[in-house]
Formats: sequence, C-alpha cells, structure tokens
Amino acid sequence: MGGGVDNISNTFAGIQTEGDEGVSQNYRSDGTISWPTTLFIGLTPIIALVGVVAHTVVFGISWIDLATLLAFYLVIGMAVTAGYHRCFAHRSYEARWPLRLGYAIMGAAAIEHSAIVWSATHRTHHTHSDTEGDPHSSRKGMYWAHMGWMFINEKPPLAKVPDLMKDPILRWQNRHIWKITILASFGLPLVVGATIGALTPTKGDIIARMLGCFVWAGLVRIVLIHHTTWLINSAAHWVGRQPYTSEDSSKDNEFVALLTLGEGYHNFHHAFQGDYRNGVRWWQYDPTKWWIKFNTFIGMTHSLKRAPKRAIQTARADQRWRKLMGRRTLGMRAKEGFEARYSELREKMREVMSRMAKKSAESKSLRREKLKTAKRELSEVKARLAELMKEVRAFSKNAAANPA
Ligand SMILES: [Zn+2]
Ligand SMILES: [Zn+2]
Repeated sequence: MGGGVDNISNTFAGIQTEGDEGVSQNYRSDGTISWPTTLFIGLTPIIALVGVVAHTVVFGISWIDLATLLAFYLVIGMAVTAGYHRCFAHRSYEARWPLRLGYAIMGAAAIEHSAIVWSATHRTHHTHSDTEGDPHSSRKGMYWAHMGWMFINEKPPLAKVPDLMKDPILRWQNRHIWKITILASFGLPLVVGATIGALTPTKGDIIARMLGCFVWAGLVRIVLIHHTTWLINSAAHWVGRQPYTSEDSSKDNEFVALLTLGEGYHNFHHAFQGDYRNGVRWWQYDPTKWWIKFNTFIGMTHSLKRAPKRAIQTARADQRWRKLMGRRTLGMRAKEGFEARYSELREKMREVMSRMAKKSAESKSLRREKLKTAKRELSEVKARLAELMKEVRAFSKNAAANPA
C-alpha cells in the first residue's frame, strides 16, 4: 500500500505486520495457464449474450427479469464490497456471525473464489502495490490488471490471512467453495425465478421466469459483477485524481464508484486501507459505507474503524502542496521559503485538530467552549494555508511570465 501519507495509515490498517515481506508470503506463479479460469472468464460473456438473445426471442424481455438482475447485482456486489473487501480483507469493522454467513454465501455467488483466497490476494496487492509482488500490478498494463493476471496459475499467499483462518464460517466457505458458488450463483436465480413464476397468474410463467432469472440474474450478473470488480484494479489504478497519496497508482474515480457501490474512491482507500469508508466525504457516493453504518443500528456490525481526521486532512493538504511544489517555475530559493511557512502551518493545523479530538473527556460546557475556540483556530489556519497556496500559485505564474 502507499504508506507514505503518514505512518499512521500503515499501523492503523492493523493487518500487515513488519517483516511480512518474506518470499514465502508473496504471490507465486509458475507461469502456466489456468485453463478452467481462462475458459470460464472468456466464455461467460458469450454464453450470457446467447442466453439473452434466445430468451428474448422466445419469451420477450420482462421488467421482472431486469429487476431480479438489479437485486442480485446489489446483494452480491455488497457481499463482495462490504463483506470480502472491507470486512474480511481489511477488518475495517466487526460483523456478527449471521451477517458474516450472508457475506460468505452471497460473496461466493460472485465467482471470485473464497473470502480467504480473495483476501490473501488483496492484502498482497496492498502491501506490494505496483511492484513485482503485486498480483495485478497496473505497471504490467491495463489488460493484465483487469483480468490477464487471473489466467495464470497462482498460489495465493495464505500466510497473509491467519486471522481469517480462525473464522469457522470462512473455513467452511473455503472448504466447500465450489458447491456454495454453484448453489448461490446458479441455483438461487432458478429458485427465485420459479417462485416469482408460481406467484404470477399466467400459465407457463414458471419456465419463462426460471430461465429469465437464470439468464439475467445469473449469467448477465456474473459478467457485470466480474468486470465492475476488476475495474477497481484497472481503471481505478489508471484514470482519476490522487487527493491523498501519490505513493502508488491508485486513483479516486467517481465513475467506478458508481458501478461498484462506492469502491472507486481507491486513492483514499490505498492511503487509509483500514477505514471502513472508501468515499470519506459525506457527499461521496459510497453505499457500502452506508450499509455498514446502517448495520450498526440493527446491531449486526460494530467497532467501525476510521482514520483520524487530522491524518486525512494533513494527507489532503500535503498532496495539494506537493503538486504546487512540483512547479518548475518556482525556483529553489522560493521553494525553501514557502516550505518553511507551510510546515509551520501544517504543524499548527495538526496540533489544533488533535486538541479537538481530546476534548471529548472534558465536561460538556467546557468542551463546547473549547471546541468553539479550536474550530475558529482551525478555520483561521486553513484560511492561512489557502492564502499561502494562492501566493505560491501567483508567484509561480509571475516567474513563468518574467523569467529571471
Ligand atoms: Zn488497488
Ligand atoms: Zn483494499
């Protein structure tokens, strides 16, 4: 992962420990082609297309089929994002067993292997982002990062997931992964289709709905879930903004977030991988964080982890600053002068914010008063920071217009 933001983001993630860089824990591949995976990934889009055409010709398109597609897409997508990714791979919150069981069953329907294997691969991606050890390093190209890496036989580094091995639900899921996958991914759409068909009045609807559900909520959904998940490894390491870190190629990409229940805010995620949110701003579209939060109200989740506010704000300011300092027109001397003023303001900002965080222990009225003062101070520091950045921009423009 991109650990440069602040050491806090490394330790905060709480998963990878120092000294886990040993070869035995890295991703290993013998370079041979995995034919079952290659054929499955290559053929599912074709079979889905043929299924859609055939079903449409015989039965037409029904809004019920499209609605089941959407429902399966949302439920299975959420099992991957909230379950596989944020709960299991990152342990960014704790979930009670009924929810973990739900994630295990519906996550298997995504056909992305067991949560244990998935998480081992994903943790490796974070520890070795964009380097040789990254199983889907974006440095090897968009196609490799998107799907090419899966066509090669690999040995997932299970040493990365000792915590998940202790969970009986995940051990059970890993042991029976293909049975659960077939039942949840293909059996369940047939059962749901048959049930809907039985509840609708016209005769012959059972077959039409069973096959419709199988084609749309089964085959089409598999292709959609696959490629949208993989967009996080390809597009969200390719196109977008980097507001938090430029230690690796991860990007915040709104379009990917829209398709993946909020996972597109990948730059924040790489900077603060232990945070249960990916879209950290309240207005950012991240249904997965809303789902996790909602589950705390009904008692299904607890211990949600958040990166400290001051670490997030400092990362954002540092990143903006780095971009400004990258301007060639600034000149060495000017840069040094600006840097000194920046680091002073940066320290001040962190100090005020940590003071704000400590206030919770004090009495209510005192706290309110002190918080008010701290907030005023913080907005003053922020205004001065913004002014400084403006000054740098103006200086750089001026220097470009009148080179010495
Ligand atoms: Zn990534
Ligand atoms: Zn992750």
